[in-house]
Amino acid sequence: MSDQTKKQFVDLDNAREDEQRQVMQQIIDDQSCPFCLENLRKYHKQQILKEGQYWLLTPNQWPYEFTQHHFLAILKEHAEKLSEVPPEAGKELFEMIAWLEKEYQIPGGGVAMRFGDTNYSAGTVNHLHVQFIVPNITQPGFKPVRVKLGKG
Ligand SMILES: [Zn+2]
Repeated sequence: MSDQTKKQFVDLDNAREDEQRQVMQQIIDDQSCPFCLENLRKYHKQQILKEGQYWLLTPNQWPYEFTQHHFLAILKEHAEKLSEVPPEAGKELFEMIAWLEKEYQIPGGGVAMRFGDTNYSAGTVNHLHVQFIVPNITQPGFKPVRVKLGKG
């Protein structure tokens, strides 16, 4: 298969760290989606905190700088568009992020879900996932945590 006909599950341009880039290159070579369940354990070395019918919760392997917590809710079925997700999954998602808030006694933070074409989303992994971010506001040199949208 030529590079152009290979299905891309990740966007290397949006990787932030060298180690992440290496793992991503392996994923491209393997022709698999890193967040589909059968592959997740191969690439993702963090524990699964909670698993529901539609989502699982896990720490981000490459947390953003200046975060106290950076969790991911990963959809258990492969989907890239919001319209591919059953509405009941939205209910469960809310229950799961509320569980994180309570479990980790989180005073505040942000939840972000990017979707679709990675030129627009600036996501690294196409498979739908949700970021649950708590900034570490007391960290020396703290700079506000920003979620990027759109490649640039
Ligand atoms: Zn997938």
